[in-house]
Amino acid sequence: RAKNRGRNKFQAFTAELYDELQSRVRNERELRNAIATEGLLLHFQPMYRAADNAICGCEALVRWRHPGRGLVAPDEFIGLAEECGAIHELGEWVLRAACREAAAWPGQMKLAVNVSPVQFRDPKLALRVASVLAETGFPAQRLEIEITENVLLNNDSANKKILAALSAMGCSVVLDDFGVGYSSLGYLGSFNFQKIKIDRSFINDSSTKRARGIIQAITGLARSMDIPTTAEGVETAEQLSWLREVGCAEVQGFFLARPGPADMIHALLNAS
Ligand code: C2E
Ligand code: MG
Ligand code: MG
Ligand code: MG
Repeated sequence: RAKNRGRNKFQAFTAELYDELQSRVRNERELRNAIATEGLLLHFQPMYRAADNAICGCEALVRWRHPGRGLVAPDEFIGLAEECGAIHELGEWVLRAACREAAAWPGQMKLAVNVSPVQFRDPKLALRVASVLAETGFPAQRLEIEITENVLLNNDSANKKILAALSAMGCSVVLDDFGVGYSSLGYLGSFNFQKIKIDRSFINDSSTKRARGIIQAITGLARSMDIPTTAEGVETAEQLSWLREVGCAEVQGFFLARPGPADMIHALLNAS
């Protein structure tokens, strides 16, 4: 009897594993298909210059237009794309679609694109970026590549080479989600970042003395290194005015504008 139950448990376990594997395989196939057939979509979220509240650029944020699940958020599929290797195609699609769109924006507007650490395993990454820029006519000087410090984990020299190549092309390299990684401070010294985005968890907690202390430390450190900071995830007027006082150069968040389709950006630009 006990043996039987054991076997049933085992069967239930393998059945569950099998289901999981199947849904994974299906997801992967659907995602690859979406990348190949314009099943992805870009939203853009404006970034504002703190000094005068002008829109100074937009961040491209990918969505998956899923036939059954609606608009799927990147947190639900970027991990899968990284694991199955589709992130390379996904990343190139995002960059191309974003540059095409941004080529129609006024000349001072920046475009920020998130690049996954896994994309850095491709030694031709910088070359691919260069060819998309050439193809779309979007100037490198207006492109901001957002990376997380994972890219510099273990002081990876291959990754640093790619970053240096992107910099040499004229792109800005921006450190995203700053402050929540492993040993943030060291990374600031190891590469010449053009900008630091303070992770939204600190902004979210900025009514607490501790979070404010951290934000002040980050902005102070960045200022001493002549690196401007962006506060992401600004959700209230109080946060905005305090972040201005603290000296963040740029602000971004739902309080200012939520991410939306390209049309929304045109409407915002026409209104301002
Ligand atoms: P991220 O680059 O840090 O982007 C900011 C995320 O915070 C976006 O979520 C944005 O919608 C959200 N956000 C902005 N303002 C606020 C706010 O005031 N409050 C709150 N609660 N959230 C806010 P989203 O679009 O879901 O993207 C999540 C993450 O997925 C991004 O974080 C980025 O790491 C990744 N991601 C998005 N698009 C791409 C892409 O094209 N390629 C890669 N590799 N990753 C991407
Ligand atoms: Mg980002
Ligand atoms: Mg971020
Ligand atoms: Mg993030």
